[in-house]
Amino acid sequence: MTKNQARQDPAHGVDSRESHNRSAVLNPTKTGDMTEPDPPRVLQVRPTLRALKLLPTDEPDVAAERTVFDRAKSAPDADTRRHILHEHRLGQMQYSLLNDVRTILEQGGMPDRHTASSKAAGRTVYEARSHTGAGWRGAFVLEGDVMWLVFASPHDRFHSTAADFIKKGTWLPGELDKKLAAQDAESIRRRGWRVDALTTILDALRETTTEQRPVEFELADTTRSNACTLRLESEPIDEPAPTADLAHTTSGMLTVTLLIRGADHKDLIQPIIDILALVRDSAEEQEQVYLKGGDLQLVWIVSHARLSQLTAAVNDTTDMVAQPQELPTPTALHYVNTSVLAAAFVDGTAVYSLCGQWFVPRLDGSARLPVCQECEERKPWAHAVLDGLRS
Ligand SMILES: [Zn+2]
Repeated sequence: MTKNQARQDPAHGVDSRESHNRSAVLNPTKTGDMTEPDPPRVLQVRPTLRALKLLPTDEPDVAAERTVFDRAKSAPDADTRRHILHEHRLGQMQYSLLNDVRTILEQGGMPDRHTASSKAAGRTVYEARSHTGAGWRGAFVLEGDVMWLVFASPHDRFHSTAADFIKKGTWLPGELDKKLAAQDAESIRRRGWRVDALTTILDALRETTTEQRPVEFELADTTRSNACTLRLESEPIDEPAPTADLAHTTSGMLTVTLLIRGADHKDLIQPIIDILALVRDSAEEQEQVYLKGGDLQLVWIVSHARLSQLTAAVNDTTDMVAQPQELPTPTALHYVNTSVLAAAFVDGTAVYSLCGQWFVPRLDGSARLPVCQECEERKPWAHAVLDGLRS
């Protein structure tokens, strides 16, 4: 398991479909009376570097971020320091106090106001409680779209120390804090774009597969100032297998054409190619050619089983079991909800399948796997795909 995965899939507690996306954009849901003011849009919940130093280091993410901080502090020059600081992912840090606030925001609420600290600060200071371990408390302030943890202490000392800490001054996020937050915001935005773009591509793939016609659609860049048209087509190579359990023995040719003529799409093409690479097994034959006029065509051969997995679009729910520490290497291609599958491809994290198994949808070495018969039983999708190809 990579460091990144460990951070996005906290080992503690029962994981949920949303939890590995928790570090993504938090969008408090509107509830209740429509006349209520909109809750503030919070993109990140993160500690200031000053607050980070106060947190208990027996928490793995706290320890990891502290190590980055200490290394940066002892860096020989500014360049090295900047380079090390790029490793910080404080906006995605998994820590009980931060997660408490994220949960409250996700449910459309706001943390409680801490009276003494608010008085000392001359502005609203929120209080959060950790529900695990030694029961820490944290003081938070909202600046722009960032909820900053500015102070933390064990619960029995919080009330007597929080206001004093604030009275001392220099407790607000500093220049470097804001720089790191901007850096995280950019990576959150980029990740969000990748998940959305891949979801759009998988939706188009489903359309071209089920309707057996080319599908054209647009993908805009992260700033929405530039868009590129894509055309997706799938053609049979083999006679479709007679039954779903043999779907891995026959293949089709998938063609993605990026219509890029006459426009400056340089910033858009590489990210799209990178995304398409996420859903391509290196064992699958592939080709990338520039056509006359500048369009780019990517062609690869996929088994009908793989095509079924990528387009299954599960909506049914299965009771989720906790994610095990060690995940077995999949021996079959399971079906998953499209946007969940897209996020897992982008993040390299595990997903829960329709048949009730956790797996990381890595593609390498799975080009020739059959579809999972249990998933297929619940949703006869490979059957439908093969049927569609035959008609
Ligand atoms: Zn399955």
